[in-house]
Amino acid sequence: MQPTTAGSDPASSTSPAASALTGHCLCGAVTITVEGRHDPRVGACHCRMCQRWSGGLFLCFEADASAVTVRGEVTRYRSSAFAERAFCPRCGSHLWFNDVEEGGEPRTYELMPGLFDAARDWPLRSEIYVDRAMACVPLAGDHRRKTRAEYEAENRFVEGDLT
Ligand SMILES: [Zn+2]
Ligand SMILES: [Zn+2]
Repeated sequence: MQPTTAGSDPASSTSPAASALTGHCLCGAVTITVEGRHDPRVGACHCRMCQRWSGGLFLCFEADASAVTVRGEVTRYRSSAFAERAFCPRCGSHLWFNDVEEGGEPRTYELMPGLFDAARDWPLRSEIYVDRAMACVPLAGDHRRKTRAEYEAENRFVEGDLT
């Protein structure tokens, strides 16, 4: 369970942003600006951890940490040995998922696209843990799909999904 590599293909369309993206949580206490490298495509994860955290469907997009500026108080939850999830302590809006780097700040953020108006038109890049998806959220399209077994075979550090 770890959406970071869901779309980290070498041909990623990651590119410098033409202009800054600005997003905010539901209550407005946290604002996030992305000015720099990010991938304007959305990845989905259907693992049980992401389902519990998101309420059903986890969506994210990648942005270099150097491109991200966060204003406002944020609470982080260490959801596994290698990752943490951030949310607004006032309204509960989910903000991002990131890998935990040894002794430093994350290099990449997996930001929640719903915070950003600009992301409303972005395409779906990939979907992981498709065999665990809730019946009510089949995602149409010819994007890349991976089952739990396929994803965990390629990402050995993942400890396995909640049962
Ligand atoms: Zn997940
Ligand atoms: Zn908030």
